[in-house]
Amino acid sequence: MAYVLVTGGAGYIGSHACKALRAAGYTPVTYDSLVTGWQDAVKFGPFEQGDLLDRARLDSVFAQYEPVAVMHFAALSLVGECMQDPGLYWRNNVSGSLNLIEAAVAAGCLNFVFSSTCATYGDQDNVVLDEDSAQMPINAYGASKRAIEDMLANFETAHGLRHVIFRYFNVAGADPDGEVGEFHRPETHLVPLMLDAIDGKRDALTIFGTDYDTPDGTCIRDYVHVCDLVDAHVLGLKWLADDKKSRVFNLGTGTGFSVREVLDQSHAVTNRAVPCHEGPRRAGDCTKLVSGSSRAKAELGWNPHRSTMKQMITDAWRWHQSGHYDA
Ligand code: UDP
Repeated sequence: MAYVLVTGGAGYIGSHACKALRAAGYTPVTYDSLVTGWQDAVKFGPFEQGDLLDRARLDSVFAQYEPVAVMHFAALSLVGECMQDPGLYWRNNVSGSLNLIEAAVAAGCLNFVFSSTCATYGDQDNVVLDEDSAQMPINAYGASKRAIEDMLANFETAHGLRHVIFRYFNVAGADPDGEVGEFHRPETHLVPLMLDAIDGKRDALTIFGTDYDTPDGTCIRDYVHVCDLVDAHVLGLKWLADDKKSRVFNLGTGTGFSVREVLDQSHAVTNRAVPCHEGPRRAGDCTKLVSGSSRAKAELGWNPHRSTMKQMITDAWRWHQSGHYDA
């Protein structure tokens, strides 16, 4: 059986990745501390609870399953939080990843798929963000991910750790079958907060900043459907299995939506206006993050066909209304 070790497999993106891996014939082994993950989301393979900082536990999981590859999702990823407590991000994300990478190398598992972020690029006005753009993160989250990218390159040189790095733009939507979906504690992401506000589960949404240098004054992001995003990861495994060189891919569609545009689309899909008010900027937010790259399509054959804003909100809304969300 071809096991893939999926760190963070109990989280939003990791759980969707486990489903996609299962469909592609792999058996995902979820390694998750459950600090931000959700055990009910582990449905597609074995579950091993553990922390990335626990090297002995990692070693025993590698020995038990002998995975053919690692997919590394587990990370803290909140821009607001990382500005308050950068140590948390350097310890969990960077030290945790170092443990994982060293454990993988020690176990002879030399295929590694890593979830990185467009936050590594930072705030670069009027620059087309492709994989060769300068990486100038403006928050500790982006800095921690950039450090892990550097780590992977060093471990490839020294130990032959082949890797595919995916720099995500903004991920949204949910499994259309309703088996898994988006669930964070606490929730800080725009789409679920917006849907909560619509059906009264939370107070009105605060728009973080209306004085950005964008057409309507709110931040612009490039949103990708979570199912398209995880499809790219399965293609990334194939890339490594085909013995191709380590590579970085942006995962974005190239279309940007402002916060106000997302709210408008949501109104159109749900037929309900989003209760909202304007607030100050959130520290660490970039003005505009939109991918200018088609490398993933050209080289991996990635086809992000579900990543229209309408489809993402439709799938997120279906999940939201299913009641799983309240579990
Ligand atoms: N945002 C907002 N109000 C919220 C949450 C988010 O205006 O309550 C904005 C945020 O400033 C950013 C966009 O929505 O411009 C997406 O934020 P999110 O936290 O979902 O993802 P991020 O871009 O931080 O990865």
